Amino acid sequence: MKKGTREQNIKRIIDMEDRIVKCNRCQELTQCIRRPSLGKGDLQPQLLMVFECDNKFTKNREAVLELRSMLIKHLNTEKIYYTFMDRCQPKACAVKENTNCFMSNKLIDKEYNCLLTNQKCEGIPIKPSVDVLMNCLPYLMEEIEILRPDYVILFGTRVGEYVLKSCGVFDLAEVNTNFHYNGSHYIICVDETKFTEESAIKIKSLL
Ligand code: SF4
Ligand code: SF4
Repeated sequence: MKKGTREQNIKRIIDMEDRIVKCNRCQELTQCIRRPSLGKGDLQPQLLMVFECDNKFTKNREAVLELRSMLIKHLNTEKIYYTFMDRCQPKACAVKENTNCFMSNKLIDKEYNCLLTNQKCEGIPIKPSVDVLMNCLPYLMEEIEILRPDYVILFGTRVGEYVLKSCGVFDLAEVNTNFHYNGSHYIICVDETKFTEESAIKIKSLL
């Protein structure tokens, strides 16, 4: 299948994002976040970066820009898009654990206050479970299929493992392994917090 035009990609991404925003497959997570994390960047990308979820690093604009500039410098493209394997950040929360709450609606308001305590949400971000990743992975694979980038950089072996398995590859989830699938070149690299100039050079050497 050919790459889509920018207009086709925009239309399909908007359609997918509408479904993500309404998604309630993991109700225990959607109750405690304002909205799911969506992809950002060039909508005809050459390079697509995948993070496990929208964490402290990815919320730090300077850190993302620094990582992006290392990739621009070594991979020679500015057409970059980034996205997440899990869209709704799981939180550990004593309030929720200790409350018999039968509500299915949001527990967090626009000011990020908890409706159970009337105070700032005190949930602590944690790693997504296997169930959450399995629920959310189809959105990522759909997004890659829509955007058809030349390169897909998978940050961390966990992202590598899940994406590889979705592509039918079961034993390559190690840093600096690479494979081709459906016209794109996939590379597993260290997670975003450990990414350095050397990591970008290593990626270049694998292409
Ligand atoms: S403090 Fe309230 S909104 Fe925040 S994670 Fe706990 S239950 Fe959810
Ligand atoms: S984590 Fe993904 S699958 Fe689960 S509710 Fe959020 S968008 Fe839906």
